[in-house]
Amino acid sequence: MSQKWRKWLGFQSYDEYQKEYYIRTNLQSGIYLCIIVSVLEIWMLYNVFKNMITHEISRTTRWYVSHISSYCVLLFMALIMLWYAISYLRGKKLSRRVGNFLICTFSLICVLFGMYISRMDFSKGEQVLSFLTMMIFVGCLFAWRPWISLLINGISFLAFYYIMADVGNISYALKINYFIIFISIFSVSINTYEQRRMNVEIDESLEASNIRLRELALKDELTGLYNMNYFYQEADKTIADESISIPDMIFLFFDVVNFKAYNEQYGFIKGNEFLKHIAELLNDTFPNDIVSRFSDDHFMVLSTHPDVEAKVSDIIEKISNDGEDVYIGIKVGAYKPVDRDCNSKIACDHARYACSQNRQAYNETYKIYDDKMRRTYHLKQYIINNIDNAVKEGYLRVYYQPIVDANTREVCELEALLRWIDPKYGFLSPGDFIPTLEEFRQIHKADMAVIDIVCRDIREVLDSGLRPIPVSLNFSRLDFELTNITNYLTEQENKYDIPSEYIHIEITESAIIEDFAELKSAMNSLRTASHEIWLDDFGSGYSSLNILKDYKFDVLKIDMKFLEHIENSEAGHTILKSIIDMANALSIVTLTEGVENDSHAIFLRDIGCKYLQGYLFGKPAPIEDFKEAVKSGKYHLKKTA
Ligand code: C2E
Ligand code: MG
Ligand code: MG
Repeated sequence: MSQKWRKWLGFQSYDEYQKEYYIRTNLQSGIYLCIIVSVLEIWMLYNVFKNMITHEISRTTRWYVSHISSYCVLLFMALIMLWYAISYLRGKKLSRRVGNFLICTFSLICVLFGMYISRMDFSKGEQVLSFLTMMIFVGCLFAWRPWISLLINGISFLAFYYIMADVGNISYALKINYFIIFISIFSVSINTYEQRRMNVEIDESLEASNIRLRELALKDELTGLYNMNYFYQEADKTIADESISIPDMIFLFFDVVNFKAYNEQYGFIKGNEFLKHIAELLNDTFPNDIVSRFSDDHFMVLSTHPDVEAKVSDIIEKISNDGEDVYIGIKVGAYKPVDRDCNSKIACDHARYACSQNRQAYNETYKIYDDKMRRTYHLKQYIINNIDNAVKEGYLRVYYQPIVDANTREVCELEALLRWIDPKYGFLSPGDFIPTLEEFRQIHKADMAVIDIVCRDIREVLDSGLRPIPVSLNFSRLDFELTNITNYLTEQENKYDIPSEYIHIEITESAIIEDFAELKSAMNSLRTASHEIWLDDFGSGYSSLNILKDYKFDVLKIDMKFLEHIENSEAGHTILKSIIDMANALSIVTLTEGVENDSHAIFLRDIGCKYLQGYLFGKPAPIEDFKEAVKSGKYHLKKTA
């Protein structure tokens, strides 16, 4: 038999959802049926008893009394069925088999009751409405599989036909009428079933889509782990759960090291498999904990396991062995919440932060968020949230460090170095806030503030009749991306009427490593506007001499690391000398940073370095201190400056 016909006749088997759907709708119909039957039977019984008490017992009442037991059986069955249906639909855990059994038994009793009463009526020459009513109830209200419906209707009508034939003469017209009613009830019952079948199919597919959507909203598609939002929800519930003690909880952030390289080497498919493997490993290692994939190669676990560190080491070991040609490893950051006020998002941020702190160290793989991190973390948040305020309130200050001529030691330039003097955190050096401002792409705000202050200071110097000294400003590579820093500089120079020769721009070597068209064109416009361009920190990173070929610099600032331990290093001397010779050959002026003692200064002068900068000549200080030092004769300004 084809699938279509099997379905139409109701031979197919039901899945869980369909079984539940059919029993629920049948119980729902059963409630209406039971209420109608119960009300009718109670009314009948009431009438019987009322007649028995108030009147002489009539012939009809005597008839009723003789059939009272059949009423009672039907009423009793209807009440049991009603109780069961209500309890089941209200969610009580009751057996579905018992439910189906009750529906069948109740239907059977209804039909038998109908036959019994109608046989009596027929024998008295009355109509057989009782049987027909019960057949309508049972056949049309409940949804039967069509083949069952055919059996119920066929057997019942045939049986009743023989019962009637036994007690009276069935006319031809009556036979035709009964047959038509049989056909009608059977077709309505098939129709009822068909409609329910269609409904259940629609409902089921909607439910399946809902489940899928819910899963998508909660789960990560690739690994099947919970996603970040769901993790936050569940973690918040765990934190609030009084039955779990706070010291037992730990947030773990897992970051795969070198995953990008792995992806590039083996392709995305293998990369995805690797992520799935990590997900399985985490699930197996933390079976009763909340495990989630946050993004890319980042996973988060909230564990209440007592021996987390051993489990983490186990994972680190297993993952580290996985890389074939590409080194692959895992770094873990952990955070232990302190009380129930802890917010899961912040806890995850802390764990992530702890992880980021061990990223650089090759052999450090597991780090717990501690007090020192707490301070830097809070400072970081503070800086991001307060940069605008710091600019507005003047917490950003510019300190000036002298740059001297190597031969005469006269001050010929100043480097503007930023400080943040904060009412809450006190004195902050650039190292405390510049990397954060760069990370959160806010550095241009600080550098624009420096331009402002420096222009104002130069104007004040010019107005007071003192000899002005050119100032070098440090620009971040991001300044060129985040704002039009060149335009801003020109605007401020115009505003304060400062000749552009007084401002030089330092661009750090690491900013130029990648070829960056915007930077190149910005450098060209700066040069067109008569600004000198200096290459800062030369030799600090993986310097490429190509920089000197591709870009034009006026001054090469040699990084202070070349002077570290140079006293005992023949090679150190040679390298410095070669750099200076090379710069001189390229007609680039040289400046060495970090000059802390006289022997450095003499050596640099002797090998031809033009400018020197370092604590030997002066530390960065506010403009007032610098003016004071000039006045007191500590600093001599270069005549031509
Ligand atoms: P940099 O531009 O290379 O500045 C030189 C750094 O070396 C300054 O540190 C200075 O105080 C320090 N220094 C100078 N002489 C000596 C010395 O003899 N010995 C030692 N040990 N250190 C010396 P500072 O002021 O902490 O600035 C650090 C870095 O922060 C700067 O390095 C620069 O890259 C960045 N920076 C400072 N101000 C700004 C700014 O306004 N904007 C941007 N984007 N970056 C800035
Ligand atoms: Mg500099
Ligand atoms: Mg430098």
